[in-house]
Amino acid sequence: MRVCVIGTGYVGLVTGVCLAHIGHHVICVDNNEEKVKLMKAGQSPIFEPGLSDLMQSCIQEGQIEFTTDLGAGVTHGEVLFIAVGTPPLPTGESDTRYVEAVARGIGSHLDGGYKVIVNKSTVPIGSGDWVRMIVMDGVAERQAAMVPSGGVATAPNDTEFDVVSNPEFLREGSAMFDTFNPDRIVLGSTSPRAIAAMKELYAPIVSRQFANDKSAPTVPVVVTDISSAEMVKYASNAFLATKISFINEVANICDRVGADVTQVAKGIGLDSRIGSKFLQAGIGWGGSCFPKDVSALIHTADDYGYEAQLLKAAVSVNQRQRLITIEKLQQVLKILKGKTVGLLGLTFKPDTDDMRDAPALDLIEQLTRLGTKVKAYDPLVSQTGMRHGLSNVIVETDPERLADGCDALVLVTDWEQFRTLDYAKMSTLMNHPVIIDGRNFLDQAALEGLGFRYVGIGR
Ligand code: NAD
Repeated sequence: MRVCVIGTGYVGLVTGVCLAHIGHHVICVDNNEEKVKLMKAGQSPIFEPGLSDLMQSCIQEGQIEFTTDLGAGVTHGEVLFIAVGTPPLPTGESDTRYVEAVARGIGSHLDGGYKVIVNKSTVPIGSGDWVRMIVMDGVAERQAAMVPSGGVATAPNDTEFDVVSNPEFLREGSAMFDTFNPDRIVLGSTSPRAIAAMKELYAPIVSRQFANDKSAPTVPVVVTDISSAEMVKYASNAFLATKISFINEVANICDRVGADVTQVAKGIGLDSRIGSKFLQAGIGWGGSCFPKDVSALIHTADDYGYEAQLLKAAVSVNQRQRLITIEKLQQVLKILKGKTVGLLGLTFKPDTDDMRDAPALDLIEQLTRLGTKVKAYDPLVSQTGMRHGLSNVIVETDPERLADGCDALVLVTDWEQFRTLDYAKMSTLMNHPVIIDGRNFLDQAALEGLGFRYVGIGR
């Protein structure tokens, strides 16, 4: 099928490349000229394992193109994905201005053929009808521009389209795997024609043709009304964030009573009603999705006169948890003023370059406020020289330089590489061999054997 993906960030580019790989002809549109230039040259503007290679092979096979020209994309696509960002406003609600600009732009370029307009961006509940309205506004504006002054615009007759909500569940760091091996595909629409088109689009993925395990049962396709599909996305993220806040709450109680949260998590996770995923205690959730999606759902509930108490509690537990490593540093080092702390990891999770709402940013800010010098080493940020607007932190190029002169290290991101650093050497370079393991990720016994004072979360 002919597909247009508008917005080539973590979601749009992965979606475009994966759809091209399974045989569709994809045009990706972005209004960032620099990004488009890079992608045309076969370079991915974001880091995602496996993305660059697949993108280059799709370009070579002529399955994917990149442009800043929205009109060309709209004309090309039978299915038009909106995959632009919906960042949080200071009030907690989603900033939908980018979605609005794209929907209006689509309307102003609709060219006669039937189109399925797909909301892949995470948008507030009720946005399906709103997108339809904005697209129609775009159509009307174009028509008004075409009518000679003093004339009367005719009713739009070339605007046959449906809006579908198709929320995205990929995880940064394993986005390609998640796209080819989804747990489910959610389609929100009451139009049988649009649903049929979406099922055709996803058929190779549903049948597991591109899955790692080709013998797995077909992917469940959940068809709902638009609002329910939009709610599935928010409810999924709110549930996962709450589950993490729950185990962090348990970890803090473990700390006080002398239990080990890693053993507790194992014990409760084996209960099939609970499951073991998202039960790793640590410094809390962050990133570009959980914080903004939970806030947006709380805000939506507020709009309808309902106080989402559980979700508000999950957020406040998380805010406190973000700074738990500072409490632990204070317990060990007492005064932090004039000390040097080294952060292992900056990105909000491993295998991504995404720093949006990363816990490291809060740590840097708070430690700096307390008069601590902050250094950091991150396998990706340090190598690529990307600084993501970081300030008040010295980004070191290797772990030994990080350890040199530190009074303590804090493991912030559970990059696999951090399991096997030369901690023996690092301990000799530090003023005090102290390590706060913010993810309960490292081998406590091995580190203690090397002379480290090891402090985990809830252990
Ligand atoms: P992003 O910020 O990485 O990418 C957005 C892209 O849209 C950018 O490249 C930007 O240049 C482009 N853009 C903005 N306005 C545009 C316009 N008018 N025309 C063309 N391009 C435009 O965002 P993302 O992380 O990919 O997230 C996109 C959406 O998907 C968000 O709603 C997000 O909540 C949701 N989502 C994200 C993830 C994730 O892991 N990042 C997972 C699931 C859902």
